This record gives sequence, C-alpha cells and structure tokens, in this order.
Amino acid sequence: MAITKLSELPSTLDYPEVPVGSILAGSAARYGDRVAYRHGERELTFREVYRDACRFANALRAQGIGDGDVVAIHLPNCLAYPVAYYGILLAGATFTPANPLLPPADLAAQLADSGAVAAISFGKPAQALASIREHTNVRLVLGSPDEFAACYADQPDSRPEVDIDVHERLAHLAYTGGTTGRSKGVRLPHRNVVVNTLQYTCWGTGSVPALDADGNLVVDQIGSEDEFPGRLGTGIGINLTPWFHAMGTIAGLNSPMLAGGTTVLHDGFDPVHYLTDAERLQVTQLGGAPALFAALLSCPDFHTRDLSSVRSIGSGAAPMPHEMIKALSRRFPGVVINEGYGLTEVTMGATSGPAFLSGTRKPGAVGVPVFDTEVKIVPAEGGEDPVPPGEQGEVCIRGPQVMAGYHNRPEETAAVLVNGWLHTGDIGVLDEDGYLSIVDRKKDMLLYKGYNVYPRELEELLMAQPGVAAAAVVGRKRADVGELPVAFVVRSGDDATEQQLIDAVNANVLPYKRIRELYFVDTIPVSAAGKVLKRELRARL
Ligand code: AMP
Repeated sequence: MAITKLSELPSTLDYPEVPVGSILAGSAARYGDRVAYRHGERELTFREVYRDACRFANALRAQGIGDGDVVAIHLPNCLAYPVAYYGILLAGATFTPANPLLPPADLAAQLADSGAVAAISFGKPAQALASIREHTNVRLVLGSPDEFAACYADQPDSRPEVDIDVHERLAHLAYTGGTTGRSKGVRLPHRNVVVNTLQYTCWGTGSVPALDADGNLVVDQIGSEDEFPGRLGTGIGINLTPWFHAMGTIAGLNSPMLAGGTTVLHDGFDPVHYLTDAERLQVTQLGGAPALFAALLSCPDFHTRDLSSVRSIGSGAAPMPHEMIKALSRRFPGVVINEGYGLTEVTMGATSGPAFLSGTRKPGAVGVPVFDTEVKIVPAEGGEDPVPPGEQGEVCIRGPQVMAGYHNRPEETAAVLVNGWLHTGDIGVLDEDGYLSIVDRKKDMLLYKGYNVYPRELEELLMAQPGVAAAAVVGRKRADVGELPVAFVVRSGDDATEQQLIDAVNANVLPYKRIRELYFVDTIPVSAAGKVLKRELRARL
C-alpha cells in the first residue's frame, strides 16, 4: 500500500498484544548480525543483545526475581543498558529507570517508593547507591560491568517462559516531577510501551505492525522510499538522550530496536566528537532535546562537515525556538524537522509532525496527535469542555499510551486523570487543522496584576535578537503586582547590552508583559533530559 497523502494515513493501528521483550525477539530474528549498538570500538549485534538479555533474564529468575518485581537501572547510557533493560522485561520484572546523578536522598526515595528489589549500578553512582541501600528493599546489586556480565555468563540463551498480562504487568515504573515538584512513579504496563513505540516508529518510518512466524513483533514497510525519511533496517544515529528518560526509553531505545536502526553511544556531549562521528559514520538521523541543537549550531564544525547523509531531525522534551528551526532548515534544506510533544504520563509522546515528507509542517507547532490519540484544550482554570480552536488552555490527552496512574498516589492520579483524559499541566492551543502548539507550562505561567504572562513568548522574542544564543524567563515575586518577568540570556557575541535587549523585546509586547530585569549568564541550567531548570533560575533571584 503506497501512501501519498496525509489523508491516507491509517487512522488507527492494530497493536498486537505482545510484551516489550517481543520487540527485541522480533528484531534479533530479522536484523540478526546487523550492529544494534556501537560504543567506541565495541559493538553489539541485534542477535547478541537478545542472547545476553535472555541470559540475564534467566539469571534474575534463578535469583527468584521475576513476575512484577521491580529492578532499577541506575546507569548512564552504555552497552550494558539494553541488555539489562530487555533482560528485566523478559524475566517478567518491572524496570524503574534511575538517573545516575540523582542525589542519594532522592535515589533512596525512588527505590523505596518503587519497592525495587535489585539494582544495576556501576562506578560512582554505585557508591551513592551503597550509601542508601539499607533504607531500601534492594537485595541484589550488580555493581560493576564485570559483576553484571558474570551473573549471566553461564545462563541458558533460551527466552524464559513467563506469563505476562500486557495490560496489567508494569513494564516501566518511571519517576517524574523532578523539575517541577514531588517525584512520582508513573505506572506503564507493557501495552503502553509497545503501543507508544509503534505509534512513533510506524509514524516515522511509514510502516505497520505485524507478527513474524514466531509470533514476535516486527514492523513492515508500507510507504515508498521518497515519502518517509527513515527506512527500516537502514537508520544510524548518535544517541545522547538518556535512556532513563521517557524520550530515551521509547524514541532512543525501543524505536530504533524495532526499526532495526544502529545506535552509536557517546560518553557525554562533545560537539566536535559528535560531528566527526556523524560525518564518519554517515548518520541518517539527528535527534535530541533543543539544547543539543543549540550547541551544534554554535559549533563551527557544524557548518563545514559533510552531513549530507542526514535524512531526518527529531526534537522533543522542550520547546524548539522558531529561530532554531529556521537555522536548521537553512543547514539541511529539504530534511524533515519533526518536533514531538509528550510527557512521562503518556509513556513518552502524543503528537508529532505529520508522518509524510509531503505533509504540511507548521514551524512552532508540535504536530498533530499520533495514531489513536486525541488532544483537547480545556480552560486553564478548570473544566472538561474544550475551548474553540485558536484559544489557549490546558492540554489534555486521551489514548492507549496514557499511564495507568501514579504509583500509590490515588489522589494525585484522580487530579490528573479524568474519564481517561490526562490533564498535562501544559498550556497549548489547537489550530483549525488540529495542530498543537505548546505555549507554556501551566505552572510556569506568570501572573502580573492578574494578567497571564507566558515566558515562552518573551524567550522567542529574545532568541530572535542578534547575539542571543539562549534565553529563559522566570518570575520575580513582588507582593504588589504578583510576578515580574526576569530574563537570563546567554550571548553568542558581545554586541548587545542588557538594556538594548530589554528595549528590543519590550517594544513588541503588551505593557504588562515587559521584561523588567535581564542578566547575562554563561549557561542556562538544563536537566539531563534537556529541560530548562526554571526553579534553579528562580532560586538565583
Ligand atoms: P517529561 O515527563 O520529563 O517528559 O516532561 C514533560 C513535559 O516537558 C511536558 O509536560 C512539557 O511541559 C514539556 N515538553 C515536552 N515536549 C515538549 C515540546 N516539544 N515543546 C514544549 N514542551 C515540551
């Protein structure tokens, strides 16, 4: 079936009722000796990942760890990660991703709240884990790559026989809320993870789900070569999105696994190394949070390297400024730049740019809802009835990828899940064509004398000024007026002064939105997932 127009996209997909481990089993059979992961000189093929994951699953079960037990992976991206991740799931256990840089108290809180019984943690993070272990239920720690590999070395290669009810058994118990408030566990059954992986993989590669002869999950190509930027079994990308974050687990781990893509790992981000590898390995995709693209755009190599192999660019996790989209379009004429939007509570994502090269993209919008997903905008003050197109309000999402709820927090679950609709806390607007734009976070909105001020608008205006590399706006509390907008700016040159930038922005906004103070800084603090840490900026005030 050749799809040529947006309107011909299947409106719904058939999601096979298989567990997440089926993704790896299907790809191991189909892509066999193709390289799945490359880290420096070391490589793992699809077949090797499956073999080691099965062995690790057997090792866990031999230790009495399986059916619904929670196992933490407390690692940066590394070759052990996919083996551990799929091994946990093949064993019937539940994966809880822990940021390796979590302060010990936060790590202890996550491990205790999730009830994790085992953890994989190497190097420095393992020391943090050791310091808090007695406050948790963790009884097995695999504390180094050698210990990890040794635990499964003698185990059988066969996939353990486990019964997984894909609607009930949690695949992920993912913690979120770190940048905004109290950390909560998001309950994501196998079904959610498989569905969200299919929603994005099929959307991005022009494929549909199928089962192979052994009943494992694969995707079959339907669109033609020219219509889709990524073809199954040909993609290669450098991964910098942490696998402990939703975008990492779905778009960085499961989606390339399902599509037969090769993932190249780097330890940390060095723009020159990144660009050297991108040219040398002829990467086909560039993907990450906007902070990655900001760093690339300001690196001279970015403009001189041969990056003609790049077919698609994907961004998510935080808003991509218009100026950045324009700069990337100039650098890669004709290459699809897709911004996706979502949150941990919907497994990863809900929207994406249209799935077709010929589809209409709207810069600044985060696209349209992916398969089987509905988006509505309701009044920010509360209520369930949608506002008309063009009006701002809280973004609500309904679809099979919406979480089962927060772990052990019925009240917080009830506050955000209403009749299957997830209230995201994000402020957005749907246009007449159904494209969603994210204007701000509800909690990030400033109130000046009762008027709503959206930092995003001021940040966009700042970013459009010459010499501005990055900008973030937060509120300074003042009893008489509420909050005053204050800007933090990273300069790319030193031609603009504080006052010039303030004047340039304020000439273009309503009086109540005016920036009152502006500070030049070396960097804007961002989380590991690339989100601006506004709390940190507010603390500086
Ligand atoms: P997390 O659960 O850590 O993925 O954080 C989700 C939040 O990140 C969302 O509620 C949004 O506030 C923000 N976010 C994610 N993607 C985008 C995007 N493309 N544009 C704007 N904000 C985004």
